[in-house]
Amino acid sequence: MQREVHCISHDINILQHVFYLFDWSEYTQKILNIIVNQNNLYLSEVDKMNRIILTADHSLMTEFRNIALFGFFSCSPVQYVPEILYDRLFAPLVPSDNGRARFAQYGLRKVEATLAKGFKDYEVVTVHPHYLDRFFNGASVVGLTVMDPLGIGPVTSSFAFGSNLTPYNRKKFLDLLNSIKGKDCRIVVGGSCAWQLAEREDLPIDHILIGEFERDGVAVFEEILNGTDTRVFYLRKPDPDEITSIMNPSINGLVEISRGCPRKCSYCEVASRKRDIPIGQIKKEVRINAEAGHSFAWLHAEDVLLYGCNSRKLEPDVDEVIELFKEVLRAKGVKSAGTTHFSLSAVAATPELIEKLSEITGKGWHGVQPGIETGSPKLMKKYMKNKVKPFRADEWPDVVVYAIEILNKYHWFPACTLLVGLPEETEEDVEMTIRLVEKLDKCHCILAPLFYVPLGALRNVGSMFSMKKATPTHCRLIYECWRHNLKEFSQGIWRATSDMNPLLRLICSFLVKVGSREILSNLRNILSRNENLAS
Ligand code: SF4
Repeated sequence: MQREVHCISHDINILQHVFYLFDWSEYTQKILNIIVNQNNLYLSEVDKMNRIILTADHSLMTEFRNIALFGFFSCSPVQYVPEILYDRLFAPLVPSDNGRARFAQYGLRKVEATLAKGFKDYEVVTVHPHYLDRFFNGASVVGLTVMDPLGIGPVTSSFAFGSNLTPYNRKKFLDLLNSIKGKDCRIVVGGSCAWQLAEREDLPIDHILIGEFERDGVAVFEEILNGTDTRVFYLRKPDPDEITSIMNPSINGLVEISRGCPRKCSYCEVASRKRDIPIGQIKKEVRINAEAGHSFAWLHAEDVLLYGCNSRKLEPDVDEVIELFKEVLRAKGVKSAGTTHFSLSAVAATPELIEKLSEITGKGWHGVQPGIETGSPKLMKKYMKNKVKPFRADEWPDVVVYAIEILNKYHWFPACTLLVGLPEETEEDVEMTIRLVEKLDKCHCILAPLFYVPLGALRNVGSMFSMKKATPTHCRLIYECWRHNLKEFSQGIWRATSDMNPLLRLICSFLVKVGSREILSNLRNILSRNENLAS
């Protein structure tokens, strides 16, 4: 019998690959799921003892073909980007190993590792979202991680230009929720933007966890398994020694090197005490990812250049950062390393650090996401005075230009955010930002104008910005940013997709160019409408 089950499993695996090659439609998957469920395939006796299923929606369980910019497609409206292109071209799902996710969103891996401290390993399973049905046998809780589940975060709302369009991150989250609704399981949601759901009692969610998981997570899950009625849990921040290493590979080889951000901008949710992760723990996670095939270690912090920094002026500790990268690159199987975020002020304060990092990490362009936010020293001083450190707020526009020139010189390509609609922003502030954008015309970078959303310490200050509130000056700023981006996309998309197969590369490049032209032409219309109204 055991042998028979293995044979059927093997055949199903082959079938999956065949369907995938031609058309891995939902219909074929459903048929396979029925066969698998009826035969209880893949589920060993141990698998049937899962009590907690962990997963995330499609928008968080994709590697975006290892092209960071494709991540923005999760913020794009369903009405403009056909789902087949999102699912197959830009954001194919991670592979599965008999229904388990081979790679999972980093936060989900942290939850998995933390729960392993309080539960037996067979009680917790991280599942690929397409194969959830196979694991409901006996499970009592399904835990979902989210990043922007309702699509109302600054990036997503900016991509929809404040309209009522449905972004993919929202659609995919609601699709997943609907697919679980009605199962005999409690639904628990946590993650960086779980707060969005706290007041949505209309959604089929039993418990919401707000905050970092490591300190209180196990106790909260025990309470949930014991049948608590508490709907929203607020979790305390862990100390560095409570932050557990992931046990299984993460998406894109992401590894957290530091948590929290000492720059503490008023509008930011992650502004909090910085906690550096010890190098030994970082290397352990890098090795886990490398063994699974990620030879690129993607180091994450809100400001990677502040790793090991204890200076009150927030001047990077060059030796600490270089040592970190050298150690990571010594890990078996690692060929290169990159970063998610660092600040322009840290770059301008220590250009020699960027030069050394480029020498260590090797040839080719590296991406990074810093924040420009505004060209107005007044707004910098009011809302982000630490972001400019070790410089003064009035030096900010020069710091930005200098830092981006340094980055380009050493082959770093920054995708920079700008904030539109901060409380008390004046026309003069916006004009200053436009002048800064014009100074960056010759630099290689993306300029992503994001709409202000009241968050962090400004949670109760002002209201969400939208195109309806945009003055002609705002429109001009947004237009100038997208004009710059279109030029960059046209020049850079071919290079950015160099690892893709030629046909996909052609299609992606074409669609990205057409998409940005479309955005630009819409903006041109809005701009001329606004100017007509103003005159
Ligand atoms: S620098 Fe960035 S991550 Fe840090 S507090 Fe400011 S906005 Fe948040």
